[in-house]
Amino acid sequence: MTYLLNDPADFAVDALRGYAAAHPAHVMPAHGGVVRSTETPENQPALVIGGGSGHYPAFAGWVGPGLAHGAPCGNIFSSPSASQVYSVSRSAENGGGVLLGFGNYAGDVLHFGQAAEKLRAEGVDVRIIKVSDDIASGPAESHRDRRGIAGDLIVFKIAGAAIAAGADLDEAERVAWKANDATRSFGVAFDGCTLPGAGEALFHVPDGQMAIGLGIHGEPGIREVPMGTASEVADLLLNGVLEEEPERNGSYSGRVSVVLNGLGTVKYEELFVVYGRVAERLSEKGFTVVAPEIGEHVTSLNMAGLSLSIVFLDDELEQYWLAPADTPAFRRSAAQEPSAPPRTGVHVPGEDPIPEAAEESRASAAGIVQVLEMLRDTAAEHEEHFGRLDAVAGDGDHGQGMAYGTRGAAKAGSEAAAKGAGARTVLLHAGDAWAEEAGGTSGALWGAALTAAGSVFDDTRAVAAPEIVQALAAGIDAVVRLGGARPGDKTMVDAALPFRDVIAAEFASTGDLAGSVKKAAAAAQEAAEATADITSRLGRSRILGEKSLGTPDPGAHSFSVLMDALGNFLSSSPGTS
Ligand code: ADP
Ligand code: MG
Repeated sequence: MTYLLNDPADFAVDALRGYAAAHPAHVMPAHGGVVRSTETPENQPALVIGGGSGHYPAFAGWVGPGLAHGAPCGNIFSSPSASQVYSVSRSAENGGGVLLGFGNYAGDVLHFGQAAEKLRAEGVDVRIIKVSDDIASGPAESHRDRRGIAGDLIVFKIAGAAIAAGADLDEAERVAWKANDATRSFGVAFDGCTLPGAGEALFHVPDGQMAIGLGIHGEPGIREVPMGTASEVADLLLNGVLEEEPERNGSYSGRVSVVLNGLGTVKYEELFVVYGRVAERLSEKGFTVVAPEIGEHVTSLNMAGLSLSIVFLDDELEQYWLAPADTPAFRRSAAQEPSAPPRTGVHVPGEDPIPEAAEESRASAAGIVQVLEMLRDTAAEHEEHFGRLDAVAGDGDHGQGMAYGTRGAAKAGSEAAAKGAGARTVLLHAGDAWAEEAGGTSGALWGAALTAAGSVFDDTRAVAAPEIVQALAAGIDAVVRLGGARPGDKTMVDAALPFRDVIAAEFASTGDLAGSVKKAAAAAQEAAEATADITSRLGRSRILGEKSLGTPDPGAHSFSVLMDALGNFLSSSPGTS
């Protein structure tokens, strides 16, 4: 539906007024439309394009140097009247005649045709280009009788560029038809659009179905088929369009451009998901894609749907497609020589060479992998409980975050160890993987903790107990540094700081690593439980701070659980340090 409107009857006029007010450097209002706000060279043909409103950027969005000279804008989904077409044409015409361009629909044909009659009667040379790219709307043999959809952009862009390059009216007309004959489109809709002020959509597509061969005026599709994945939709559209690929010969050699057009409700990311597949398939089939356009170009209010247009290029069409244009909705800068050589590669995670490690450090690394696997199993065991704690005032994903993070860390650590990594490198890999797999706040903090802890170790020697104590402290310091939490904010820091203080003191006096970890974990557990009595001041749960009263902080709790498990693990396997 349309949320913002005044009188529905004035919607198109109101929108046009705002559009002209927004782009005074490009357009000025004329009766029923807009015309370029700058003078055009004498005897240059004027490209006047149009159709109904409700299709922005088509058509008014494309007025400016390198593209159209003016655009009459009809009411929503209805042709501009002959008088609107006439006024805009008269405003744009500067001695070179007028090329009228519109999608091939009966109303447009009549109104533009009548305006052409009137202009001709006054001695103005007028030619007409009816865009007819939609393959669903008629047989290939009579493709010029089909309707026009998003191919409008391609045809008008190319015609406008030809005119900017000096084409006279004959030449502009020839190039426009050539572009039209080389362009094919195919679309699907998932739901219909609603006219401004109307309570109900013009049509609905049944749930689980999609309508093939949509129109851009709220016309439903020609037939309905079961809804597909993005890749299936990409294949369907591409196969349809490519059925009419011309023979590759001297002038056409498989170079194409693509317009993947959102009808109004399909978002850019969705279009890119589809385009990823389209690009892959085109490349497999030996096409070269030149300057594709993915986005909203010819919309249909809030129609849920998309269309794929392909123009089969020869040198001339390609040159005009690539030529500069400067309009409010379509801009292309003049091709520039690249100022720097092309980049030859990018960083690939996991491809950094594993630094060489001493035998002793690799033995310690094997112990670290065991610890990581133990943490993974512990987190999996407590996943549901961690999640439930987070659901009280957070978003409920802490159990999943800890499970994914520890799983990723254990996997990355063991893979690095298998490639000969030492203690430091194993933990660094594990830290990266934890942050990457867990996502979320706690994932980033735990990732940083492992990275800082690993940095205490060395790939050239075994890890000794004092270094483990140091590494634990370094990890906790990193959490404080990165997260900025202070005691009492109700975060994992409330459990981690007592842990750090107790382990330092215990280990200094006893030298017993496992015993110190257990004592410190007990302190962490007590501190974590105490967070039930305070309200959250940081992290996601601060928004619902009051709600968290009575429940311990999930991150503090999970920290104490993992450290308790570490203490138990160390006491039962004294050899690991
Ligand atoms: P998210 O909040 O992104 O959903 P999780 O649910 O996995 O992440 O983790 C939530 C936990 O993260 C909290 O319970 C808290 O212990 C911890 N946390 C949030 N912000 C901070 C911070 N700035 N410093 C330390 N810990 C934090
Ligand atoms: Mg959460």
